[in-house]
Amino acid sequence: VYTTLYEIRQFNGTQVKVPTGNEVEGMNILGLVVFAIVFGVALRKLGPEGELLIRFFNSFNDATMVLVSWIMWYAPVGILFLVAGKIVEMENVEMLFASLGKYILCCLLGHAIHGLLVLPLIYFLFTRKNPYRFLWGIMTALATAFGTSSSSATLPLMMKCVEERNGVSKQISRFILPIGATVNMDGAALFQCVAAVFIAQLNQRPLDFVKIVTILVTATASSVGAAGIPAGGVLTLAIILEAVSLPVHDISLILAVDWLVDRSCTILNVEGDAFGAGLLQHYVDRTESQSSVPELIQVKSETPLAPLPSPTEEGNPLLKRYPGPGGDADTCEKESVM
Ligand code: ASP
Repeated sequence: VYTTLYEIRQFNGTQVKVPTGNEVEGMNILGLVVFAIVFGVALRKLGPEGELLIRFFNSFNDATMVLVSWIMWYAPVGILFLVAGKIVEMENVEMLFASLGKYILCCLLGHAIHGLLVLPLIYFLFTRKNPYRFLWGIMTALATAFGTSSSSATLPLMMKCVEERNGVSKQISRFILPIGATVNMDGAALFQCVAAVFIAQLNQRPLDFVKIVTILVTATASSVGAAGIPAGGVLTLAIILEAVSLPVHDISLILAVDWLVDRSCTILNVEGDAFGAGLLQHYVDRTESQSSVPELIQVKSETPLAPLPSPTEEGNPLLKRYPGPGGDADTCEKESVM
């Protein structure tokens, strides 16, 4: 649930909503991730008694993924109606585009350059794999990000896409993507910088080098603080404007066209997370292929109480620990001998 206080203001004859409160009530994903990690450790400590709950969560997760695969079929129609509904809601679309057209164009162009050139280039330089094939694999998730304007809402679909189409393991995707959806927001940082410069130019305030650096630093920090929900970034834009002494009430202009800019912004936010997961998978694959079998046996023999989860049971690493009545140490020794 997302709530904030609004004040109705007039801009060139159009009524726009201006956020007046700075409290955002939303899903605390970072808190959930931390809780899940600590809870997983606790279940593992419980031993075989914790297995029941682990199996419950695994089957809950599998059922969610089945639901997501159904949603993928009607996503295009849903997205069409979401966007059409927003356009119909606008009172004077032409006037908004005429007055804020350059701002919108600058944001969309920046997002396109970052999403289609910069991020793929980074992925290519580190992995030497085709980044556009990776992008094609997550196309459905990107379309959903466009339709919903929410990184959090896109999360289950993005997990499914990177795991099933791009070969990212569940351990990586389910750890990296929820954190990425909360803290890694390339698109938000980019549009916040553009918005701050736009508001400065609108008010004819010159920006010296120190102010530009301040905008860059605060935009990075405030994008981390932005929630993965529609218009999450606009609210934290106030921090940047305050930092460089620009009028915060001009956020109303940004908010008026945010329904459009936020969509490309969210695409970029989730794309960055997916590429991050892909990069990590590449390094894990490389490390695993470089390790020889005798070394693995050596590692397992030395740390019998913490065997590494087998890749074939990657979605269920907690259950792997209790394979039989012989106890962990016995089992590990047997594995080492084999
Ligand atoms: N809507 C964006 C997201 O969910 C956040 C933002 O407004 O920048 O990622």
